[in-house]
Amino acid sequence: MANPHENALHYPLGDTLPAPGATLEVAPGVRWLRMGLPFALDHINLWLLRDEQDGVQGWTLVDCGITDAATRELWELIFEHELQGLPVLRVIVTHMHPDHIGLAHWLTERWSTADHECRLWISATDWNAARMASQTTTGFGGDASAAFFALHGLADADSLDKVRARTNYYAGMVPQVPRRFRRLMDGMVLTIGGRRWTCIAGYGHAPEHISLHAPEAGLLISGDMVLPRISTNVMVIDIEPEGDPLPLYLDSIAALRALPADTLVLPSHGKPFVGLHERIAQLLAHHDERFAEVLQACAEAPCSAADLLPLLFKRKLDLHQTTFAMGEAIAHLHALAGRGQLRPIAGADGVLRYATMG
Ligand SMILES: [Zn+2]
Repeated sequence: MANPHENALHYPLGDTLPAPGATLEVAPGVRWLRMGLPFALDHINLWLLRDEQDGVQGWTLVDCGITDAATRELWELIFEHELQGLPVLRVIVTHMHPDHIGLAHWLTERWSTADHECRLWISATDWNAARMASQTTTGFGGDASAAFFALHGLADADSLDKVRARTNYYAGMVPQVPRRFRRLMDGMVLTIGGRRWTCIAGYGHAPEHISLHAPEAGLLISGDMVLPRISTNVMVIDIEPEGDPLPLYLDSIAALRALPADTLVLPSHGKPFVGLHERIAQLLAHHDERFAEVLQACAEAPCSAADLLPLLFKRKLDLHQTTFAMGEAIAHLHALAGRGQLRPIAGADGVLRYATMG
């Protein structure tokens, strides 16, 4: 949902965006670029960090864009004009979602030489999840997904048919994942171009999302954990049907309040901004409001996740958005059930609804 309090955030670059196939410096040695996405969320931000490894000058990339011809073509333009003739030395991926890891296989192959293997750096959890998702249908389509959405009240036969038929969602954007990787973990410190970046693991959005914090430079590559304009997608999917990701997410962003308030946040979607603490407070308040709305609705009558969609998403949703919205509604229900405020009731119609306690 669009942030109604966006004006509390400060955008140091104003409305300036990097042109397609070009980059914009946001801090010394840190360049911003954007790639298109075929969703309502139509772009992703990627970062180029000036680096040096074993005496070789070059660049570290953070995140990749999805696998498609347009993204590859833009990367080629960037290689030609924006790298000062230097190679890409490694590819860091914040998490396993297609817009972040999609082209990692191509980028790492493209830049590996006999002397230097351009390595993918990612959390082990997300590497494994990406490898699996690129080879099977998980979470976003197929029979199991359709059955899971039906259990949670999605009754529209056309939508369910489309979910059932969507068996290539992830692999279509991530046909391959590099076979080798280097593991990122919470608290690891990477030296990139002489600057120290600390890995901060975050949960709830992806299995083990890694954000990167450069304390001396006052920079946070937040990935999808903190976005200025939209709330981060946190959802339950069919492969982990009892999952309770929302408390994990809320705890993860609450922990980011330990970073300085004047940190320049480099998010994966939207524009670089200052106002990390404000944004975290906004997100925590937003979810508190959501919890209150869900509790209120369930107090009036037991609600399935599908019953909550018009309440939580006051706009028309396409299929992609509906599956995400269902996952988010289930996440809110699970969190409230986990807190002991709601209980599930299996209906005779096969639909799971949630009622308030007492
Ligand atoms: Zn993501």
